[in-house]
Amino acid sequence: MLTSQDQARLDALYDSMQEASHTFLGYPVARDFDYEPLYRFLKFPSNNIGDPFQSSTYRLGTREFEREVVDFFANLYRAPKTDYWGYVTNGGTEGNLYGLYLARELYPNGIVYFSEDTHYSVAKNVHFLGLRHIMIRAQENGEIDYEDLKESVRLHRDVPAIIFANIGTTMKEGKDDIRRIQNILDDLVVLNRYIHSDGAFCGPFASFLDPKPAFDFADGADSIAISGHKFIGAPMPCGVVIARKRNVERIGRTIGYIGSLDTTITGSRNAYTPLMLWYAIKVMGEQGLRQRLAHCQELARYAVESLNQHGIAAWRNPNALTVVFPKVADAIKNKWQLATQDVSHLIVMPGVTKENIDALIADLAQPTQETT
Ligand SMILES: *Cc1c(COP(=O)(O)O)cnc(C)c1O
Repeated sequence: MLTSQDQARLDALYDSMQEASHTFLGYPVARDFDYEPLYRFLKFPSNNIGDPFQSSTYRLGTREFEREVVDFFANLYRAPKTDYWGYVTNGGTEGNLYGLYLARELYPNGIVYFSEDTHYSVAKNVHFLGLRHIMIRAQENGEIDYEDLKESVRLHRDVPAIIFANIGTTMKEGKDDIRRIQNILDDLVVLNRYIHSDGAFCGPFASFLDPKPAFDFADGADSIAISGHKFIGAPMPCGVVIARKRNVERIGRTIGYIGSLDTTITGSRNAYTPLMLWYAIKVMGEQGLRQRLAHCQELARYAVESLNQHGIAAWRNPNALTVVFPKVADAIKNKWQLATQDVSHLIVMPGVTKENIDALIADLAQPTQETT
């Protein structure tokens, strides 16, 4: 039993989280999920340790459902039917690390190229893996500068190129075009190449965009990572990584202790998040995901228009859910939890309402508001 003091602290935490969730516009996570039908699974010490496509002595898990999640996204990303593999990760970062890990096993002396607008975790992961990297300039819209990429690869034509492409950068939702990147590598005759797509943010809906960005396996990706707690939504971080099976087979080792292959980054793995992603996919289906996207885009369009009408120079990339505007004052940044670097942004995710946007704009339009 908790002491009444501890109980009171827990209740206060609940209230403050409840309150903070009402003014939450700056991070790309959906809030409209309901996984209550899955709560009963929380009483099991479940674990998907090992490879999702292999059985394990540890049977208290959800591997069968995890495989269906992998199949769903592999199919969405036009992965080669007989040559894909994947698993449910702890989030986009782990999936990105995994893609780079496969690339390094293939090309230990390769150089990783990524734009300056790339997520902050990537420089750290490259460091973990002991890979050399070259940072490439980004365009104003957040997309990689293809000229700079070409010039940089040209100088290292004798070394395998590992491209870390953004399918929606963190601040501006800029998307690197991997067909264009493939063409650059073709022109330079760099045959040893690996392309990873960081779809942490846009991955779950990028296939439904029109025009469809060039980011999937048919476009030339070797691996794709997405976050599950962002556009789809989950009460805890999760994600999916899909890769070419033949690249994964290079790293798998059989482990007697778990009766499975050690093909994933961590040992113990969450068995609950695959169940949530499976549930979300089953309930929404592709059609539901498309509707979610259309609704968010409509609201993002409204946000830009409305901000502009109030004299705020807001913009967004074509089809983007991220609305970018000049840096806001600290009070607003803190209240609305707006991620801010050289610019600020709001991200119209499922669960954001027109009322939220109007309330933010009312705050921004206060004449006393000083931008710092
Ligand atoms: C969120 C994000 C990441 C990191 O993903 P996590 O799920 O937070 O680990 C990486 N890249 C991009 C572009 C992101 O938006």
